[in-house]
Amino acid sequence: MENVSPKKIYLTPLPYSKSALQPYISEETLHYHHDLHHAAYVNRLDELIEGTPFAAMSLCDIIRHSDGAVFNNAAQVWNHTFYFSQLAPSPKRAPEGVLLEAIKQEFGGVEELVRTMTSHAMQLFGSGWVWLSANNKGQLYIEARSNAGTPLVDDLHPLIAIDVWEHAYYIDHRNARAKGIEALWKVLDWSVAEARYCKALDEKRCRAREQRAESCL
Ligand code: MN
Repeated sequence: MENVSPKKIYLTPLPYSKSALQPYISEETLHYHHDLHHAAYVNRLDELIEGTPFAAMSLCDIIRHSDGAVFNNAAQVWNHTFYFSQLAPSPKRAPEGVLLEAIKQEFGGVEELVRTMTSHAMQLFGSGWVWLSANNKGQLYIEARSNAGTPLVDDLHPLIAIDVWEHAYYIDHRNARAKGIEALWKVLDWSVAEARYCKALDEKRCRAREQRAESCL
């Protein structure tokens, strides 16, 4: 009886109903993507870490200190929670404030940012993720990472993730990856990216910028 371990890793519920993102992401896609794919990573990780030092770590620490199957499943658990939480049925359609300033400075504008991230996603061979991240100074980066790759391992602060695994778009768009990515932008809530960006900056810097930009979150 004492060998029965409590569950360590949980599946974060979707912050909206599975039909809420239609017509851009179908209820069937969210069912498979969240209830089956995401849940499978959670359950597999829970099995893998049982009775190991990882069982006492936070999910982020597991990601930063593991490799192989533990890393793959832990990173996919985190990546998917991050991915689903940036989507909304009535999203903020464009960034403002400090994030908009940084996007203009780094990429020229939001359209260019969207085009660059989409291009990275189209060119990624096989499965993986495209990330918009910030460093501690607020500088922005776009990059593609294969499989479970996540910017967390490099101490970057992710702001937006595009899931380029076929399971993210195949039910709705079959092999048309471009259509899946186009649909994703329609439900991306820029207010979430703005909040993540402000967290990435230290408080003082964020407040100072906020006063100049008059809109931070
Ligand atoms: Mn996925």
